[in-house]
Amino acid sequence: MRSVDVLVVGAGLAGLHTARLLAEQGFDVLVADRRRTLSTGVRTTGIFVRRTLDDFDLPDHLLGPAVREVVLYPPSRRAPVRLSSERDEYRVADMPGVYAHARRMAEAAGARIALGVRYAGSATGVVRLEGADPVVARFVVGADGARSTVARGLGLDVNRHLLIGAELVHPTASGTTVPTFHCVLDPRVAPGYLAWVIDDGRNAHVGVAGYPDAMRAGVRHLLEEFAARAPGRATPAGPVERRGGPIPVGGVLRRLACPAGLLVGDAAGAVSPLTAGGLDPCLRMSELAATVAGDYLRTGDQRVLRRYDGKALRARFRGRLLLRRLFAGVRSPAVAEAAVAALRTRAGRAAAARILFGDGSFPTVPIPDPEPRAS
Ligand SMILES: Cc1cc2nc3c(=O)[nH]c(=O)nc-3n(C[C@H](O)[C@H](O)[C@H](O)COP(=O)(O)OP(=O)(O)OC[C@H]3O[C@@H](n4cnc5c(N)ncnc54)[C@H](O)[C@@H]3O)c2cc1C
Repeated sequence: MRSVDVLVVGAGLAGLHTARLLAEQGFDVLVADRRRTLSTGVRTTGIFVRRTLDDFDLPDHLLGPAVREVVLYPPSRRAPVRLSSERDEYRVADMPGVYAHARRMAEAAGARIALGVRYAGSATGVVRLEGADPVVARFVVGADGARSTVARGLGLDVNRHLLIGAELVHPTASGTTVPTFHCVLDPRVAPGYLAWVIDDGRNAHVGVAGYPDAMRAGVRHLLEEFAARAPGRATPAGPVERRGGPIPVGGVLRRLACPAGLLVGDAAGAVSPLTAGGLDPCLRMSELAATVAGDYLRTGDQRVLRRYDGKALRARFRGRLLLRRLFAGVRSPAVAEAAVAALRTRAGRAAAARILFGDGSFPTVPIPDPEPRAS
């Protein structure tokens, strides 16, 4: 039976980045993903915020034009609140390109990627895989998304507080718009969250997300309803792609690691409970995960795993978890109308600008100094 140091389950951004960092430390790393190609089944809009773009090296050619304008609409769509930043705040990435790049970087570091392979559970170090022979893994990294099977297999915490999102993506006639992020607070189509159009002059993403229990008509139907009269939506200038998936918004999970493995990315609940942004945490948290996993594999000292502490990370999200609860409570158009009216005031605009243009996407995680490299 094949043996590896680390099996990473999931070749999303969190899994590929963690795999690369562990392979760079000299470990034998295998990544398994149930998808047959990384260019299909994309589950994200791909908006990267300024802080991520500043801190991580994403190839420029994979990023769309910068977005500085945000328009917030109430359910009536009347008198929206416009906010402009002096800085480039967002760039929408070509996500298939980003995954291909992350895969190349992981492979260049020595990791192997097995596609069409599903994790089906593990016992005493032997991992059962559908689509491939079982492997013996010293450590398993669960990067398998919001509904992580690895988390269950390892007996770690699982996400219970999920939004569901869906969007349409299509090219637009190039250069015809000022890149703008339109956000609509309308509980009829996006209960507890937002509907959005982001058009950077190259591509438009039109989406809705909300609590599934309040989306009785179904997320696809609500998306169609929203898309039919979405503000700022340009006519498609090419094929329309569909994306969607669950978004964990209950905050970072408490129990993230055990001697058999750990969780990263959506599997760890590492998504901002307020903005639902999860791409920055994928990169930031993977660095801590790879450092801690590397130290543990080198030393065998289980105390090292305490540094991967969900409770400590979660504590830094208190304010955002509170705002999430308030956001979740916006279930009637009248309340949403009043909430946007509050954002028209000076204090409201300042608060909105802090959330939309601030630096607080995911707390910077102090990375402990690694132990000496594996021999
Ligand atoms: C509609 C939508 C829009 C979003 N837009 C943004 C945005 O613009 N900006 C932002 O910051 N965040 C956004 N998010 C959140 C963000 O996309 C996620 O937080 C992030 O992509 C999570 O990455 P990940 O690597 O943890 O998980 P994923 O990207 O979900 O990767 C998990 C991988 O695991 C694989 N897998 C699952 N189960 C198994 C198994 N049993 N065996 C093998 N493989 C398995 C899956 O095939 C998948 O490839 C959005 C989310 C949604 C749903």
